Amino acid sequence: MSKKFTEEEIKTTLNKYFKKLNLENDNESKAVLFLLFKSRIEGQRFKPNDKCFCLSSKKIKICENHLSIYRSFKEIDKVDVEKDFEVIEYDINNALRKEKVLVQV
Ligand SMILES: [Zn+2]
Repeated sequence: MSKKFTEEEIKTTLNKYFKKLNLENDNESKAVLFLLFKSRIEGQRFKPNDKCFCLSSKKIKICENHLSIYRSFKEIDKVDVEKDFEVIEYDINNALRKEKVLVQV
């Protein structure tokens, strides 16, 4: 991963999706967002009885409000999703790297 994004770019991108999808601004939402992006990029589609994209092993229709989040997310343009995924992925990888460093110390 060569491209770097500034804190500001990351924050702006995340906030855009938190607002659009009516998500809280917290780490759990970040993880949900990342998994949503990943499933969309990989071309996965969900029906109400499918296991949720959030990996909870619940059906998406009974997994918190994830079905409505998924439906709202589907409305977002593919071009935007692909562009913003780079930012989201970069941020998640950064967070994981930081965590790993903390564990090693
Ligand atoms: Zn879920």
